[in-house]
Parts: sequence; structure tokens; C-alpha cells
Amino acid sequence: MKIQIISPGVYTYGSMVLGGILRDRGHSVNISKDLRHDGDVIILSLFSTLQLLDPAIREFVSKAGPPVYCGGPVGICPEMVLGELDVDAVAMCEGEGIIARLVEAGPEGVPGVAYREGEEIIRSEPLRMEVIDHTMPLFPPDLSEQSVRGANVYIETHRGCLGGCTFCQVPRFFGRNIRSRSLENIVEEVRELRRMGVKRVAVSGGTASLFGYRNALDKDAFIRMLQELSGILGRKNLSVPDMRVDLVDDEILEAIREYTIGWLFFGIESGSDRMLKLMRKGVTVLDNIRAVELARSHGVKVGGSFIVGYPGESREDFEQTLDFMEEAMLDDVFVSIAEPIPGTPLARVALNTPPADNPLFCEHSGAFRALRLSEAEARCFEMMLHGENCKPVPRAISEALYNTYLNEARSQGKDIREVYGLLNKYREFV
Ligand code: SF4
Repeated sequence: MKIQIISPGVYTYGSMVLGGILRDRGHSVNISKDLRHDGDVIILSLFSTLQLLDPAIREFVSKAGPPVYCGGPVGICPEMVLGELDVDAVAMCEGEGIIARLVEAGPEGVPGVAYREGEEIIRSEPLRMEVIDHTMPLFPPDLSEQSVRGANVYIETHRGCLGGCTFCQVPRFFGRNIRSRSLENIVEEVRELRRMGVKRVAVSGGTASLFGYRNALDKDAFIRMLQELSGILGRKNLSVPDMRVDLVDDEILEAIREYTIGWLFFGIESGSDRMLKLMRKGVTVLDNIRAVELARSHGVKVGGSFIVGYPGESREDFEQTLDFMEEAMLDDVFVSIAEPIPGTPLARVALNTPPADNPLFCEHSGAFRALRLSEAEARCFEMMLHGENCKPVPRAISEALYNTYLNEARSQGKDIREVYGLLNKYREFV
């Protein structure tokens, strides 16, 4: 069978894993970032709710001749996917265990799949993989040209997260039990990536140090993994960006300094304990600042990601976050307006918050009022500018940088209002 896997815009790791499974079944498989009709079956891998509204994707699936099966994190709300895209079925769970049956025999009777039958949507119980080692993924030949936050590819070492952050899909899609790949399986994959000319590899999975976790952190497993991968790629080409502040210690940070590019990104989210509690981060502002200081004491550079415009966030909460940034002096900062991803607790919170209490729907009347922004957009913009000023070596805000951040804040606000539109439309399912 000729199978076209489409991963719009970026080669996702999941699409490459599915490609490898289907290749080993004897199918002729091609992976593309472009929307193209070329195959007896099309698999569409989507990672963002907004992709459901992308006019090019909508037109593509409506005109596709062969069956189109959609997978990826958007599958957590199949009613939304089937309502927005003219696809033949949606995978609601991890795809490895079901992809061959789905492609070869259609959706009927396949676990973890939803599809339409007349007016009705048929759903079957999702399947959870116990072992997540997998066959060699199908790596596209131009993977070495891709750059996602500086890496050619993000590989998966484990699934699940112990955390329960309200805005995050990881524990909802993969669960809160940690399942890790074997080191041999990961090493074999990284060797193959290297052979193909891929240089820069990042480890994904929410919190890298959870690799090997069984009732407790297995620091030896994590450090051994870094040692092995660094030996193949060189430390300058390995990163383990995302980490929880309560899952690092001296040994872990020392290994990050020794075997990787020496950067970490903590999900700080807010400088207000009230907001951290609402987000169910499970840590406090003090935990955050201590982790930043500990990392720095080991010579590790620290970036932080922040969420603004969370439903119910007050001006005071926001100002506490600005104060935190001054104290922490982070080397890099990412700011996002809170996105209520379907399937997360934040989606319900967003639906139940009156617009007057939601900064995304309130007009900003402060220092940036001439720019006609929502309060969430204004906070996002101000925080990005502030992040530059708070770096150890502050960066001058040129007109170009100012406009880049302004456009970014506006664009985030517009996108997330569209996500709210979808949530409202499918409110009984999210
Ligand atoms: S710690 Fe990170 S991966 Fe885990 S639930 Fe929170 S945001 Fe998600």
C-alpha cells in the first residue's frame, strides 16, 4: 500500500515513529511537511488545536480522494476534529498499537478510534502501550535541515508526567505513570540520526529527568542516558530543555552541564503563588527561584517560560511575575498567553470564566492603550520587553524587536480567541 503521512509545517516525532512501523509492514511510506495527495491512504498528524482552523488543511482534507486518518494530540477531542475536518477517522490514543490495523482494514473495531456513522460518532476504548520501545522511525532525508527551537529533532525517551498542570496535555494524553524506553532503543535511534547527518537532538517528554522513573527518580539512568547520547552527538549537539524545578538536584544539574549544551528551560509560569496554585503547578515561587539559583550555581544557563492572561489573573499577580523576572535574571524568556487546550482542566476553567474576569477579553486601558490590545496581549507584550531588560546582559529594545514582540502578542491573542471559539462550539465534549 502507498501511504502518505503529512505532518504540516514540522516533522513530528510521532509521525516518524508511525512511518517506521508502516514501513516495516511492507508499505511504501512517504512523510511530508507539505499537504499533498499521494497515496492510497493519508495520515494527517496534527499537534495544535489551531491547525483544525487552518484553511489550507481544511481545503486539503475536503478534496482528498483516499481515506484520511487524523492523529496526534488533537485526537483527545475527536468530536472537535470530526466536526471541523472532513477526515475518515481520528486516533484518540497513542498510534503505534493501532496504526497498522487502521490503515489496512479501516476504523471499524480498532481500539482508540472515533469515526462517523451517519449522524453518529462511534468511539472505541483507547489502548495504552505498556512498552514504548519501537522500531526505527522513518526519518525523512531532509530532517537535518529542520530547526525546532534550535534542534533538528526532538526525540522521546519516556511518556507521561507526574505533574498535573491545568494547562498541559501531557498527563491527560500520556497519563501520570512514567513509561520509559530502554537505553539501547534510544541509543540505536540516535546513532541512526547521526548517520543520516542529523546533528542537533533534543530530548522531549515534559521533564527530561523523569527518564527511568519507577516510584522515584532514577538519576543514574538519566545521567547514563546523557553520557551515551553525548558520546554519539557531542555535548554541543544535545539538549534536554524542559525540566520541572522540583525534579533537579546537584547531580542532575552537573550532568546537564557536563553532557549537554548546558541550558535548561523551567516552566516558571508565574511569579504569583495564587496563580501557581490555580494552575496546579505543585511548586511555589520560592521553589522556582531556588531552582534557578541552583542551576546557575552549576554553570547551567536558565530560560523560563511564563503564562499570562490565565483566566482570573489580576494585575497584581502579573506585577508579581514582573518582580520575579527581575529577581531571577533569566538568560532567556518565553511568554505565552494561556491556551485552553481541549481535554485539559484549563479548558473547563476557560469556559466557566465570565469574559469580564478573563484578561483575553478585556480591553487594556493602561500604558499601552494606544496600541488597542486586550489585557492579555498587553501583559504578554510587556512581559516580553521586561524579559529582555532583566537578562544578565540586558538587550537594547530596537524598533524591530519592539514590533516583533508586539506582533507576537497580537497574534497569540487572536489565535487563542479562535481556540475559545472552538471550545464554545464543542463545549459539551471538551
Ligand atoms: S510539569 Fe510540564 S509536562 Fe508535567 S504536567 Fe506540568 S507542564 Fe505538563
